[in-house]
Amino acid sequence: MIKVINGDITKLTVDAIVNAANSSCLGGGGVDGAIHKAGGPEILKECRKIIEKIRYLQPGNAVITTGGNLPAKFVIHTVGPVWKGGNFREEFILKSAYLSALKLADQKNIKTIAFPNISTGIFGFPKYIAAEIAIDTVRNYLKNPTNIEEVIFVCFDEENYRIYKELLAL
Ligand code: ADP
Repeated sequence: MIKVINGDITKLTVDAIVNAANSSCLGGGGVDGAIHKAGGPEILKECRKIIEKIRYLQPGNAVITTGGNLPAKFVIHTVGPVWKGGNFREEFILKSAYLSALKLADQKNIKTIAFPNISTGIFGFPKYIAAEIAIDTVRNYLKNPTNIEEVIFVCFDEENYRIYKELLAL
């Protein structure tokens, strides 16, 4: 049910990929930039509509759009915390980001979902702790009845890939 791969999340044929967005939801660097670039303008158009309604996407929350030109049908946009040393509810917000994406996927009857290593790029969250939170949150979620059949952790760098393999005991 849980897999880890080393690669580019925009290439995956799954029901949904998760985007590590920012609160503006209008694109940015890192995986966010890569998703909008590969997915085309339809994703941004839907993001704009959502933002007109909610003003900004709070860290820990998630919204869903089309996958546009991506092989994935949907993109679930969530915002992780910026790491500020660990005393600003960063761990709680990261857990909420994973949980919100999983719950939204479940509501939409999504069966296969891929996550990037949220917050471990530009947002500076320590990779090992982030991986522990990601794996723990997904494992606990999958213990309960769910429509989700497969969760893929997509690592873009060797360090995250090594950490995930170690923690998943692969
Ligand atoms: P954040 O602002 O949440 O830290 P980043 O996009 O900077 O978001 O980084 C999140 C993670 O996504 C990092 O581990 C980064 O290496 C990874 N990443 C960047 N591009 C891609 C991609 N195309 N596919 C999968 N992961 C990616």
